[in-house]
Amino acid sequence: MSNTTTLQLEVEKAKTSKINEVDFDNLAFGSVFTDHMFICDYVNGEWKTPKIIPYQSLVIDPSARVFHYGQAVFEGMKAYKDDNDQIWLFRPKDNFDRINKSSKRMAMPEFPEEYFFEGLKTLLNLDKDWIKKGLGNSLYIRPFVIASEPGVMASPAEEYKFIIICAPAQAYYGGEVRVKIADHYSRAASGGVGAAKTAGNYAAQFYPTKLAKEEGFQQVVWTDANTHEYLEEAGTMNVFFRIGDKLLTAPTNDRILDGITRKSVIEIAKDKGIDVEIRPVKVNEIVEAAKKGNLKEIFGSGTAAVITPVVGFGYKDKKWDLPKLTDAYSSVIKEAILNIQYNKSEDKYGWRYKA
Ligand code: PMP
Repeated sequence: MSNTTTLQLEVEKAKTSKINEVDFDNLAFGSVFTDHMFICDYVNGEWKTPKIIPYQSLVIDPSARVFHYGQAVFEGMKAYKDDNDQIWLFRPKDNFDRINKSSKRMAMPEFPEEYFFEGLKTLLNLDKDWIKKGLGNSLYIRPFVIASEPGVMASPAEEYKFIIICAPAQAYYGGEVRVKIADHYSRAASGGVGAAKTAGNYAAQFYPTKLAKEEGFQQVVWTDANTHEYLEEAGTMNVFFRIGDKLLTAPTNDRILDGITRKSVIEIAKDKGIDVEIRPVKVNEIVEAAKKGNLKEIFGSGTAAVITPVVGFGYKDKKWDLPKLTDAYSSVIKEAILNIQYNKSEDKYGWRYKA
């Protein structure tokens, strides 16, 4: 803990570690958690002393708002270990700002920056053996806030819990990804909560995604709720389209999550001399380009896999395959981001953060 801060952080260490029970070569994403968790209660209008405690179940009243109205927000970020055992985070201030932005939209109290960073760094250093070295290995970090106050009144709670749990993650390989472009269901509406990382946004996608899976697609690319003519984002990824040599992606708005990987992809692509256009992208434009053979790539961007190349897409009752490129933008950009995350290259952007 830093001695430049007056922050009190209580630490109760786990008596025994579970680490020897874990098969780090066969990790199902997000299913095994480290020995400790960070927790901080909001009561009587203030955040109380934050704590790090052994990972454990919570006791929450069944009437708590989180169970009934989904008053909950979360983040997804990763810690990486370099060859010298130093732990790094990638643009963590952006995750911190985003969870508070999500909280604000859900009428929840914002969390203090000092608590977040001190708590996170202490937690990561306590559980550092869970972060394995090697490109692709990481520790997935899940900060979240839930409305814990008892009572089923449909109004914002006055008690919350801010929690951080961590799960070791291997290089993500989900197999080939084909996406279905939405023409009926929607993910978000203008004035709604699409730009917030709030629980219900994800639950609402499960059913349409299940239908898309039955048709042989792994993910849905959402379109605008009014016309379904414009491409927005995927379930947990922003989306990029390469037509000819141009890279296109939708501008963020109150329906689209302002992805940290998305921002990084745009900056790196521009630095590599790629022509990036941030503008509304029409479904028709993609379909026409695919028909003419000009649609070179579709890829998603997000913390889980950095970049996920898409091998084909479906729209209404038609399906298209994308070409296999040896010089894909997705590979060049992914490599540049990984090199920054794992401290393998210079970081002229200042995105790397020592934990
Ligand atoms: N869109 C949605 C809906 C997401 O949940 C995520 C994952 N956080 C993203 C995009 C990608 O965001 P990031 O690059 O910050 O992980």
